[in-house]
Amino acid sequence: MIFDKLLVANRGEIACRVIRTARRMGLRTVAVYSEADAGALHVELADEAVLIGPAAARESYLRIDRLIDAARRSGAGAVHPGYGFLSENADFAEACAEAGLVFVGPPPAAIRAMGSKAAAKALMEKAGVPLVPGYHGAAQGEAALLAEAKRIGFPVLIKASAGGGGKGMRVVEREAEFSAALASAKREAAAAFGDDRVLVEKYLRRPRHIEMQVMADRHGNVLHLFERDCSLQRRHQKVIEEAPAPGLTAEQRRVMGEAAVAAARAVGYEGAGTVEFIAEGERFYFMEMNTRLQVEHPVTEMITGLDLVEWQLRVAAGERLPWRQETLQPRGHAIEARVYAEDPVRDFLPATGRLTRLRAPREDEIHVRVDTGVREGDEVGIHYDPMIAKLVVWDESRDAALRRLRAALAAYEIAGVTTNLGFLARIAAHPAFAAGEIDTDFIARHRPALVPPASPPSDEIVAGAALALLVEQEEESRAEASRSGDPWSPWHQRNGWRLNGDTYQDLRFEDGSGERSVRVHYRRGAYELEIGGRRLSARAERSRDGRLAVELGGARSRLAAVRHGREITILANGESWRLVHLDPLAPELEEDASAGRLTAPMPGRVLEVLVAVGARVARGQPLVVLEAMKMEHTIAAPADGVVARVAYAAGDLVEEGATLIAFEEGNDAAA
Ligand code: ADP
Ligand code: ADP
Ligand code: MG
Repeated sequence: MIFDKLLVANRGEIACRVIRTARRMGLRTVAVYSEADAGALHVELADEAVLIGPAAARESYLRIDRLIDAARRSGAGAVHPGYGFLSENADFAEACAEAGLVFVGPPPAAIRAMGSKAAAKALMEKAGVPLVPGYHGAAQGEAALLAEAKRIGFPVLIKASAGGGGKGMRVVEREAEFSAALASAKREAAAAFGDDRVLVEKYLRRPRHIEMQVMADRHGNVLHLFERDCSLQRRHQKVIEEAPAPGLTAEQRRVMGEAAVAAARAVGYEGAGTVEFIAEGERFYFMEMNTRLQVEHPVTEMITGLDLVEWQLRVAAGERLPWRQETLQPRGHAIEARVYAEDPVRDFLPATGRLTRLRAPREDEIHVRVDTGVREGDEVGIHYDPMIAKLVVWDESRDAALRRLRAALAAYEIAGVTTNLGFLARIAAHPAFAAGEIDTDFIARHRPALVPPASPPSDEIVAGAALALLVEQEEESRAEASRSGDPWSPWHQRNGWRLNGDTYQDLRFEDGSGERSVRVHYRRGAYELEIGGRRLSARAERSRDGRLAVELGGARSRLAAVRHGREITILANGESWRLVHLDPLAPELEEDASAGRLTAPMPGRVLEVLVAVGARVARGQPLVVLEAMKMEHTIAAPADGVVARVAYAAGDLVEEGATLIAFEEGNDAAA
């Protein structure tokens, strides 16, 4: 290699993914990080790391000067831009070249040629690549664009020419809506890309998004590595991708592949790139070219056995691609699902919080791959993309791969942050998806089935939460007994008092919509749970993997329970439920009291502060009302004391563990 040290100008899963391959190839790696990422996985994986600025991407990951400086200081010989951030920024590629660094990507001119969707379409037209009927000329006045829209015929799609990530796009159904849609597309484009130029296309109702992976070296070899079907989208953003595209014939693949290769040749492309097409029936049209590695590149790796990052690096070092198009053959079927921190029920609002549990399905060389940039305990914050991981599966056939996907999604355990895992599981289980009836309208069309309204957890789930607490109690008393040296002492029994007759314990939970209670009766070696008017015999045991094996009313199941303070997350069958244990003893508040402060038991919003500095409070007195999980929680004084500091006001957002109120030292509350 003409370089032996690589700087990765990105973060998150793609930085980790690039670092892994670089290390395997014997390169030394340099990570860059913002202040928010000091403890991030990509920093840990790299041989060296350079701080490049504050959390905001604009001041760190998007700062060309700081990245070049970091490369110089660390002695890196090459820069990999990942995807997103500066990966399609020709100025960055140029700055790298000027600094004597190898940019792992195409030449700046190729990035520029494809950077404007309008200019790219003009170029493709010349190269004979088919285009969606539309207008991509220079005129930007409303009257001219409307005239073009009428010529094309409604519905039309207005697109930001500089666009990406689905931003600055508006579907216009009829003429009367055109003016307002144009204005808002231009506003969004100006804000996102600093360029408000648009183009207009015929809006296809139920097209498929099929893209071709291309690879080019510096010696004139340009090949394609087959297609990916990325039709499963939400608001023009990809959710699930697969390769090969279901139902695509070898002939269609050949024609589309040739068009993609022609597109790459037309701009003097080098390295890995993607030519995106929109397909309707037998016809397909060029949409845009992404001059970088694509998020969903792993599905191509799974069906070709190639490591695209390795080949990006080899091409950047001047190597030749050793393959011939005719001898390349795809093998089997791969599917990728993007696991996001977001809440499908709240219109996919990005979610934040600490990953109190993060267990991915077991990876192996052949069938299951998980690309991630976070670990258990990490915080999913507001500064960057909320993607947690990419789950990729492979098998001989689409059906078999789909079965793997369902199993892997069900095995995923994430708590602390709301995710789209349930949504992905419902897509994977949908008969229309299994039948390959996919197009870009799929998610919108099946939304009622894919995003059912939030419903309270079933009695079985609430019983699961109760059993999780009971198993924990048993484990604690066993541990205490063995510590005390008297394993038989009755004082270590937590299973209620067994002196005479029926004894019971009431466990109460909040489930986001109301209170649920479980009355636990102790039976020999088992429990009987009273819940929702039923009495069910129950048993629970922790299995070796940490999950609970539960038997409830004769039915056996397995679930994972993650307790974090009073919050219990139950994970079962790929779905998750959050419950709050209404514990009259509120142990974590007692602990906080000993530190002289009261902390937030969960992330949320302060609704009301009921005391002021200097107030003398009595144990049990309500101090703060917090809203979390759409419920109100009143937080009471853990002991008598005097308020020394009130850290938040009504309306403030608080992180879990944040100090809400501090008590005067030497006071009872702090004792
Ligand atoms: P397209 O641009 O056609 O949507 P991709 O599927 O490759 O192609 O998606 C790129 C998207 O990935 C960006 O729009 C953004 O939402 C997301 N993204 C960008 N940078 C990062 C990153 N560092 N980590 C995670 N996701 C990112
Ligand atoms: P971006 O740069 O945001 O990726 P694209 O031009 O690639 O923009 O389009 C994003 C998505 O929007 C496509 O994957 C497709 O689902 C949809 N789309 C784009 N053009 C059309 C069209 N003419 N008709 C219908 N849907 C379209
Ligand atoms: Mg696109």
